[in-house]
Amino acid sequence: MAKQDIAIIGAGQAGAALAVRLRQLGFLGGIALFGAEQAPPYQRPPLSKKYLAGEWEQERLWLRPTDFWREQRISLHLGGAVSALDLTSRTLVCGEREHRWGKLALTTGATPRPLPDTFVDRSNVFELRNLADVQRLRPAFLPGRKLLVLGGGYIGLETAAVATQAGLSVHVVERATRVLERVACPHTSVAIRALHQRHGVSIHEGRTLRHVEGDANVTAVELDTGLRIACDLVVVGVGVVPQTALAESAGLDCDDGILVDSFGRASVPDVWAAGDCARFRLNGELTRLESVQNAIDQAEAVADDMLGQGRIYQPVPWFWSDQYDMKLQIVGLNRGYDAVVSHVSAKGASHWYFREDRLISVDALNDGRAYMVGKKLLEAGRVVSRSEVERPNFEPMQLLRGQAEGTLT
Ligand code: NAP
Repeated sequence: MAKQDIAIIGAGQAGAALAVRLRQLGFLGGIALFGAEQAPPYQRPPLSKKYLAGEWEQERLWLRPTDFWREQRISLHLGGAVSALDLTSRTLVCGEREHRWGKLALTTGATPRPLPDTFVDRSNVFELRNLADVQRLRPAFLPGRKLLVLGGGYIGLETAAVATQAGLSVHVVERATRVLERVACPHTSVAIRALHQRHGVSIHEGRTLRHVEGDANVTAVELDTGLRIACDLVVVGVGVVPQTALAESAGLDCDDGILVDSFGRASVPDVWAAGDCARFRLNGELTRLESVQNAIDQAEAVADDMLGQGRIYQPVPWFWSDQYDMKLQIVGLNRGYDAVVSHVSAKGASHWYFREDRLISVDALNDGRAYMVGKKLLEAGRVVSRSEVERPNFEPMQLLRGQAEGTLT
């Protein structure tokens, strides 16, 4: 690579989006994308849904056809981690080779929290983060088997839904007081818990493991309540931590993520970070967003800034999850909420979160309209008060009509 070229460490959704955007903006220099996994850049959301269910072939996961990268002159360096990074000489080492770069982006993502000690080196314990994890798990996903899921977050619940539909019997153990506690309000947790229970999943909230039975395989666990749960396999989805080791060893400022400003710039000139690994100030609070949307949008904002067209990145985050016939969509961050207004109908439900009488977030359960309206309002920065959502016969579209006519500001 020549010294004006751009290196991107991390070939996930953020790294791929960044490389593509650089070309779309007309950047003609070299782009090298480094990925530790062997697979070309792929989408992660279907891993715990359609790919785990066996409904998608592997190639459907690829973000771009394999020829695309060659045609765009984006060099993929896959199957080996970058082992050293020097910010002074502007070099990195991958495998045996040293590469020079002029500008650098870190899109190193996040990695599962370490397994609980009692699960280490057990052959029927699976994580679910990468393509290889799911390829290992899928053959064990057989009807009639007993699955224990540790963690009632997105991974745990999506896995439980796929497993139940594949004919496995499922127990989910969550140590927080309710499933999805990290991301959703109690109303949403209650609805999702009930959804799983209707499908026969046993949910154990606010529980920890007291004892694990078995040798090479885990055969049963005992909860802190004394309940014994026999199992044939275990899937662990207990959250992720940002991959910052390389950045830290190179001397970049990190604190639960690589610290970046609102342009995605790290603490050293000509170095940026984006996606799950980056922590930045959002609405005044240091924030790390674990979402595909952020991976793409922040990466594109970084590409713009690398080419001198930077803009402040202050997203309205959104998330979604498919479980059975339920689509959960969340827009905004509910942190610090002090009130929730709920609307439940036969078709779906929506929960509108307020802080100091201002709308900050919406959870929509099979209610695409509420989600779409909430997203438009939050993106437009519209101040929506509780009384507007509490109206009798509330219909979300009214809020947009009010916005268009300027009557509700
Ligand atoms: P997560 O959403 O953070 O949920 C993990 C859950 O496991 C938390 O509630 C956590 O509770 C709990 N937990 C932690 N240690 C535990 C233990 N020892 N026993 C029982 N429960 C424990 O993380 P995830 O489900 O593993 O997902 C990983 C990442 O993939 C996240 O970034 C997630 O957003 C992403 N993902 C997203 C989607 C989607 O958006 N649809 C789908 C799949 C994955 P504490 O909070 O108390 O630690």
